[in-house]
Amino acid sequence: MNSIVAIVGRPNVGKSTLFNRLVQRREAIVDSVSGVTRDRHYGKSDWNGKEFSVIDTGGYITGSDDIFEGEIRKQVNLAIEEADLIVFVVNVEDGITPMDAEVAKLLRKVKKPIFTVVNKVDNAMREPDAIEFYNLGLGEYYTIASINGSGTGDLLDALAEKMPEPEEVDLDSEKEALPRFAVVGRPNAGKSSFINSLIGQDRNIVTNIAGTTRDSIDTKYNRFGFDFNLVDTAGIRKKSRVKEDLEFYSVMRAVRSIEYSDVIVLVVDATRGFEGQDQNIFWLAEKNRKGIVILINKWDLVEKETNTMRDFEAMVRKQIEPFTDVPIVFISALTKQRLFKAIETAVEVFQKRKTKIQTSKFNETMLEIIKNSPPPAIKGKFVKIKYCMQLPTQTPQFVFFCNLPQYVKDSYRRFLENKLRDIYDFSGVPITIYFRQK
Ligand code: GDP
Repeated sequence: MNSIVAIVGRPNVGKSTLFNRLVQRREAIVDSVSGVTRDRHYGKSDWNGKEFSVIDTGGYITGSDDIFEGEIRKQVNLAIEEADLIVFVVNVEDGITPMDAEVAKLLRKVKKPIFTVVNKVDNAMREPDAIEFYNLGLGEYYTIASINGSGTGDLLDALAEKMPEPEEVDLDSEKEALPRFAVVGRPNAGKSSFINSLIGQDRNIVTNIAGTTRDSIDTKYNRFGFDFNLVDTAGIRKKSRVKEDLEFYSVMRAVRSIEYSDVIVLVVDATRGFEGQDQNIFWLAEKNRKGIVILINKWDLVEKETNTMRDFEAMVRKQIEPFTDVPIVFISALTKQRLFKAIETAVEVFQKRKTKIQTSKFNETMLEIIKNSPPPAIKGKFVKIKYCMQLPTQTPQFVFFCNLPQYVKDSYRRFLENKLRDIYDFSGVPITIYFRQK
């Protein structure tokens, strides 16, 4: 289970610069795969072998200096609830402002690791100025200059130290495990209605209580002959606690449930189309290499002509380029239309995500394709791919060994991905392709 790091603090202290620092290295790789940057406030990172998510909470709150104190409090409280580690950014130039003191007060009550980060300490002269931040009552602090990156290495060391060791992948138990589905989507898309229609009465005999461990937020169900766990997150059970009107809340909660599950069931309101927030959640799932099924809900409300469904589907696929190979099911939580199909599809995606392709067959198939369409020569250099295999990872990842990996263009990577998808059916499953020198 990867840790979630939330960056909190009042506006303009340098949260987003620090965020960029923390996710930079990793993002460069991820984005060269998908070709697009999707979310500037959420990213994946890794340090000393620990993979983790970083959320810049401030990024989801509009308004800058004149932001309401109440908003900050909500932001911090949610970070406290949903994140594993909290990075509290303050600015040495401003000293401790009343709002900083307010945030510190909330954080002092928290049991989770808190890292106070004093930003803009970009020269030794400013080190003494940072001492005043002991007055926040949060203990040790870290000084950084996020603009040039100084100090971030020490901060990352400290963060990684507090994260659990990466889980060993136990492929045997993996086979036995039930699929974990997370139902996500923006407010009013129909997530609760979908879950209610699906599991009806049983919702009342839910025994587990939301907590920090994976087991405690999983609840097992059987419907239509399929066994699966629904990852129940704050978004569903504690619905009334915070009004989910801000994108931030939906995203924060989606992050939590996405991290916990195998397949993301993205519920979309058909009457509103497929918009920014739907896209964000989609890319969260994709970045985390989770299986994805898109449910277009409230289909009963849509006036249909001959091609309505086809056109709607095409519109959605356009929005999720280049990862368009995702199942889309049109449902109605109200009339219970295609609920079986929805669950069946999610189970299929779960199974496809566990596909293991035999190395000899994989080589036979892919090397033949590569022979017929080799990577184009670049600056007179020819890339020769000699061997390939699926990595023994939890999600489908492939490596192609070649003489000059740095000369393989993104377009060729995508070409191979498309071929792979044609042959092996990874619909709804993000796959990763690496090129390495033998
Ligand atoms: P959530 O915030 O995503 O959990 O959304 P809810 O499940 O609370 O649904 C929001 C509103 O949409 C409620 O008024 C539901 O009755 C309505 N709704 C949900 N699904 C459907 C559907 O398939 N058809 C229709 N007509 N209304 C729906």
